[in-house]
Amino acid sequence: MPGAPAAAITRTNTQAQRTPMSKSTQPAAPGCDEYDPNSLSVSEAHTRIMELAVPVDGEEQLLIREALGRVLASDVISPLDVPPYPNSAMDGYAVRSADLPADGTSTLQVIGTSWAGDPFTGEVGQSQCVRIMTGAKMANGSDTVIMQEHVEHSDDAIRIGPGHRAGQNVRHPGEDIKQGSAVLAAGTKIDPAELGVLASLGIAEVTVRRRLRVAFFSTGDELRPVGEPLRDGQIYDSNRYTLYGMLTRLDVELVDMGVIRDQREAVEAAFREAGNTADVVITSGGVSVGDADYVKETVDRIGEVGFWKIAMKPGKPLAFGKVGDAVFFGLPGNPVSVMATFCQLVAPALRHMTGQHVDTTVVIKVRCESHLKKRPGRVDFQRGRLRYDDSGELVVSSTGLQGSHVLTSMSNADCFIILPADQGDVEPGSIVDVQPFAGLI
Ligand code: AMP
Ligand code: MG
Repeated sequence: MPGAPAAAITRTNTQAQRTPMSKSTQPAAPGCDEYDPNSLSVSEAHTRIMELAVPVDGEEQLLIREALGRVLASDVISPLDVPPYPNSAMDGYAVRSADLPADGTSTLQVIGTSWAGDPFTGEVGQSQCVRIMTGAKMANGSDTVIMQEHVEHSDDAIRIGPGHRAGQNVRHPGEDIKQGSAVLAAGTKIDPAELGVLASLGIAEVTVRRRLRVAFFSTGDELRPVGEPLRDGQIYDSNRYTLYGMLTRLDVELVDMGVIRDQREAVEAAFREAGNTADVVITSGGVSVGDADYVKETVDRIGEVGFWKIAMKPGKPLAFGKVGDAVFFGLPGNPVSVMATFCQLVAPALRHMTGQHVDTTVVIKVRCESHLKKRPGRVDFQRGRLRYDDSGELVVSSTGLQGSHVLTSMSNADCFIILPADQGDVEPGSIVDVQPFAGLI
């Protein structure tokens, strides 16, 4: 059965009219692989994806440890000041600033000890002080702490010299967090630091957005699951593993639907099931224009789909749309293309759908040590490795072969080297844009 034509598909439903998911097409000039007048830029594709990828409804109340990796559904208002009382930043002596000597020395009587968790309950009077530990509550009447290393101690008295500042070494109530302030905003992802902030407020439970449910499957008659022998013409299915890894790091609920055969009925059945159960459906393979590429054709029939050629390398063909209520990403089959399109286009959309507000992509400029082959036309996401050279400068080098089938180029890399569309070859010593993998890959 022939596959769908290479032409882009435009559905004439209202959604498609509001946010057109495809472009009109003209045949690209033969022999010109890189420049394609019908291709979308990565940022155009990103904008269109974000229009459909709306945050999921639904919240749940969780114990804070269970909420690690989840996204806050509402602002967290602080029920208290942190720190809650004035306390010492040092082990030393709590004194009255009025007793600090301008020059010469002062002798102060030590009238007790303030321990962390067991404060001194008396009053510090003139020429008196208390021994105080880090974190212990300041004694009434005292306002300044002298480090124990800066005093001479004898029996129950201390001698202090000049040069101390009134109020030094004291932490004030609310210095970190003010009671009543919105300390964590809705849309904040709960990472270890946020867990600690919640705990410091005594908050045991938080309201988070429900988890995004993501169904994914591979397509291809050549694909075998791991653990089974390969027959002639077969390869192992690796995309479901890279997707599993990246999706797990995004903390979504996974529905792994396995490998689906290149058969119209099988592909349709998989999409119907996924579209009924998931918020997002991600497939790999079968979106090209080969005779066994049923993904795009099927979603066109039972959902709505735009087929885009994206001006990026690797990862030119990408299908995007809806199946049932689910947002659909049809990624290319080549393993590096899967990872590159996932990082650049899918992950930001999924983060947005989980309700996250901030999605910062860090791109840094560093010197490239390698010669990089690059033909003008598409943005290249080449795989690189960062290191500090002998002079201490951060530099990047290529991982070598850059074919979209060379998956070891990803495992050998720790960053993408992003080369703009119009760029040609890169000479060693040039400054390039680098995007560190930063936890997703
Ligand atoms: P396709 O887009 O289905 O034509 O696939 C493009 C290339 O990616 C072909 O070489 C496929 O064999 C390969 N490929 C597709 N799916 C996978 C997968 N799940 N794991 C590894 N390689 C794949
Ligand atoms: Mg295929």
